Amino acid sequence: MSSSSSIDQPNVITCKAMVAWEAGKDLVMEEVEVSPPQPLEIRVKVICTSLCRTDITAWESQAIFPRIFGHEASGIVESVGEGVTEFVKGDHVLTVFTGECKTCKHCESKKSNMCQVLGLERRGVMHSDQGTRFSVKGKPVYHYCAVSSFSEYTVVHSGCAVKVSPQAPLEKICLLSCGVAAGLGAAWNVADISEGSIVVIFGLGTVGLGVAQGAKLRGASQIIGVDINPEKYEKAKCFGVTDFLNPNEYNEPIQQVIKRISGGGTDYSFECIGNTGMVTTALQSCCDGWGLTVTLGVPKTNPEIASHYSAFLSGKTLKGSLFGGWKPKSDLPSLVNKYMNRNIQQA
Ligand code: NAD
Ligand code: ZN
Repeated sequence: MSSSSSIDQPNVITCKAMVAWEAGKDLVMEEVEVSPPQPLEIRVKVICTSLCRTDITAWESQAIFPRIFGHEASGIVESVGEGVTEFVKGDHVLTVFTGECKTCKHCESKKSNMCQVLGLERRGVMHSDQGTRFSVKGKPVYHYCAVSSFSEYTVVHSGCAVKVSPQAPLEKICLLSCGVAAGLGAAWNVADISEGSIVVIFGLGTVGLGVAQGAKLRGASQIIGVDINPEKYEKAKCFGVTDFLNPNEYNEPIQQVIKRISGGGTDYSFECIGNTGMVTTALQSCCDGWGLTVTLGVPKTNPEIASHYSAFLSGKTLKGSLFGGWKPKSDLPSLVNKYMNRNIQQA
């Protein structure tokens, strides 16, 4: 990285970043210019960033390029923009893809984490001025979820970062800025799984394993994991999965198998793949009366969900979940503490 900064005045930083130039084409490591943080923004030296399935889905299917992906990250504040009082240079932070302004109707409601000011940014720009903070040889490069962590330095709104204890290992807690938190929160906040219940999870990636751990810690009696990748079973066991089903090994629809081994359908089902067909399967897998399906996946194609109306007539519920219902600034520090106290595991 090179910087032409004078003493206290942040200036443009030139550093390396992985730039996506076209949908589905290899990312290219480029020298990018990262502008100073604008009012209420912070510039962060990214220490760790991980790959979430949502990055891949957007890279394959969206049309905003060139772009820097990455939205699950931890880092250290390098400089702060005008008006920032919450952060100083050197603070350890998690970036978040959905922020918390603390003043809008949703931030004020206990029922929602869908901030109306700093919520999911879909146009590839910053919330405050719809501009970008990156360029390559003078050409603007778009952001992803207003985080863009596949860069050595990035600029985020101060409402889209959460200060964490400097003792917390940044390479571990990075996953709490999206996947693991999304799964745990779906189990605890959205489904509110009760002790002794039966749970089925479709997809055992980071998100599905987060749900499994959440279910285990709530005392679920049976946690069925469904994945087409047989290698997932061993890992899944460590996170609480008690029964593993690979749909490719059955000649009957997997929901029938699930109904059989759960005594008529599960109490809860979770879609953690990003396949709307599996949302239908998840709905069919939970029981009548109180069965609850929580959908977390982000589909690349076929965004509509299909279900026979009788599923709902017979008492089932379908709920969506973004970031596990957590309000990032209010709730993430306590999740980090849970990890530090070994109350949750990451790997
Ligand atoms: P991942 O790719 O790591 O895991 C997905 C798993 O699903 C894999 O193990 C894969 O083998 C399995 N799978 C794929 N197709 C399958 C099928 N037809 N049947 C059974 N298993 C199948 O993904 P991830 O990072 O864990 O994310 C999971 C989903 O959640 C993605 O759609 C992602 O975009 C979304 N996501 C949502 C949130 C949220 O807040 N709602 C947050 C993060 C990720
Ligand atoms: Zn808000």
